[in-house]
Amino acid sequence: MAEQIVWRDGRTPQSARFGDIYFSPDDGAAESRYVFLDGIGAPDLWRDRPLTVLGETGFGTGLNFLLTWQAWRQTAARSARLHYLAVEGFPLSRDDLGRALAAFPALAAEAAALLAVWPLPHPGHHLLDLDGGRVRLHLLIGPVEAAMRGASARVDGWYLDGFAPSRNPDMWTPAVFAEVARLSAPGARLATFTAAGQVRRDLTAAGFALEKRPGFGIKRECLHGRLEHPPSAADPTPWFRRGAPAADGPVAILGGGIAGASLAAALRRAGRAAVVVGAGPVLARDGSGNPSALMKPRLTPDGHPYGRFHALAWLHALRLYDSLDAPVWRDGRGVLAAARDEAERTEQEKLVAALGWPEDDLRLVDAAEAERLSGCPTPRGGLWFGRAGCLHPQALCPALAEGTPVRLHTRVAGLERTAGGWLLRDPDGGAVMEAAAVVLALGAALPDLWPQADWPLGRSRGQITFLPASAAGPRRAVSFGGYLTAPFADEDGRLIHALGATYDRWRHRPEDWRPVRAADHDRTLALLREALPEAAARLAAEPLGGRAGLRCTIPDHLPLAGPVHDRPAFLAAFADLHHGRRADLYPPAPLHEGLYVLGALGSRGFQTAPLAAEVVAANIAGTPRPVDADVAAALHPARFDVRHLKHPPQRQARDRKGAQADRQ
Ligand code: SAM
Repeated sequence: MAEQIVWRDGRTPQSARFGDIYFSPDDGAAESRYVFLDGIGAPDLWRDRPLTVLGETGFGTGLNFLLTWQAWRQTAARSARLHYLAVEGFPLSRDDLGRALAAFPALAAEAAALLAVWPLPHPGHHLLDLDGGRVRLHLLIGPVEAAMRGASARVDGWYLDGFAPSRNPDMWTPAVFAEVARLSAPGARLATFTAAGQVRRDLTAAGFALEKRPGFGIKRECLHGRLEHPPSAADPTPWFRRGAPAADGPVAILGGGIAGASLAAALRRAGRAAVVVGAGPVLARDGSGNPSALMKPRLTPDGHPYGRFHALAWLHALRLYDSLDAPVWRDGRGVLAAARDEAERTEQEKLVAALGWPEDDLRLVDAAEAERLSGCPTPRGGLWFGRAGCLHPQALCPALAEGTPVRLHTRVAGLERTAGGWLLRDPDGGAVMEAAAVVLALGAALPDLWPQADWPLGRSRGQITFLPASAAGPRRAVSFGGYLTAPFADEDGRLIHALGATYDRWRHRPEDWRPVRAADHDRTLALLREALPEAAARLAAEPLGGRAGLRCTIPDHLPLAGPVHDRPAFLAAFADLHHGRRADLYPPAPLHEGLYVLGALGSRGFQTAPLAAEVVAANIAGTPRPVDADVAAALHPARFDVRHLKHPPQRQARDRKGAQADRQ
């Protein structure tokens, strides 16, 4: 639910919750500039920085942000980047935001751009790119202290802008200030409108050296300062450390599927030079090579890292794909998840109630509405995902990679560490290129190139079946355990559906998975007939062919996204992790400098690759992490080793025996 606003004099927004105004009715823009921009020493603060990270507690109407963006654009170098990390617990609706910002005609262009990307109030990280990607508004929606506790950033300048401390004490606690200090770069600047004694004392205790200065207009005083005594608190999980940003120089992205293309987009936005190296003749082949890819979220009703990652990855991917100026969607948005039985219908009802997502994203539909929306008869209705749809991977991947050099027909078979980074070798041992950093985004070929990580990866072969579309058949994609895409024109101009997919563990040589098998068509058709008999009867049962792909799978169904650890050194450094020693007694995790992975995307790469790529790009570029600490840990490439070290198999067996003895 969006925040409730009361309009003072019909134009000044006031929070119904806190009974305080968002900005001063007497020249709010001048006051913001004076208190905040001048307070952190802008524009000098960003003048020579290629990347400036600003932080704000209390995004509110975005007035401070828009003023900063405007000033930054007028004074920063053309190649520079601004990353604005703002925490907000109670976001305004888009309508209220527009109404509030209408008070500042000089910011009309910036306000319109902000309104165009303003997200729905889902909790968590929202990456909103503006100014052609030079400016990123990183909106972190959630209660201030918890939201900051999950964050990782090095902020150069802070705006502390909660409502007045007397009305809004949660924004001004020692715990919040400790987070401000933890998330600060050395010498970070800070500005706030209040000079309340408690705020001054607690900020000083957090390590800031503060100065009072005259307030704006009739106000007496305000504060500014800088971090003089950075906190020394230890990293509570040194085994999951992010690593230092990669050295300057080009990043080689190995793999030309959705992972590689998403990385190209994320690194380009971060201002890092990269090259996509693909083994095939075009982008989007192998695991990403189906002609129509179902894009539908994987949602869970709980708040576990798995569900939170999937929900935010979905929103991020939608925003990214919808921002591309290319026909990346196949015709017709909206996907029906048919309820196959009463138990599934009950699960769907629970999910909708638990998430409380807006109806445009997700709603329950009965049988009649399901058929009206999708053209697919279903006995029990299902869930309707209004913004889901089918993607055209061969249009999407090139659109994501546009602007990044691509080297095709280039197979990389080995990596060698050099003084300046990594040397890529071809299968004959010849040098392909040297790069400052490398990201392994190789789909099912990942274990072949980097076996030393010993990730518990599997390969799964998936076959889809092409069926001729009929006027009586579904108009939109339907999932039912399997899935049927909306009709689309194949390369020969025939209107077809793709029916998918098989999911078979593949242990054979990688070359053998391609030939399409008649027996697999029979299996996908049988699944359709069983789940949706009426819809199946309306479609011709004779396949027009099909396609097979190979997925890279992993037991916990989450991507590997982050730095690659030096496994032997890592296992030695954390060998006694199961003893539960204090985290600060361990060394930082040994990582392969400049080596990263984005893999194990399973069958959900189109939903998860863009956000997982942002996690990797944030590691490489040293920008604020776009997911919470527990989500980053759930994606971290060392997670299986950490689990194993914390619970060695002998210990698990002993615990099991002990539990049995207790029961007897
Ligand atoms: N900087 C804003 C601007 O430029 O419009 C004005 C911010 S307004 C004075 C304070 C903001 O802090 C409100 O948007 C409010 O929702 C937010 N806030 C208050 N308490 C919070 C909390 N506990 N956690 C997160 N945000 C909170």
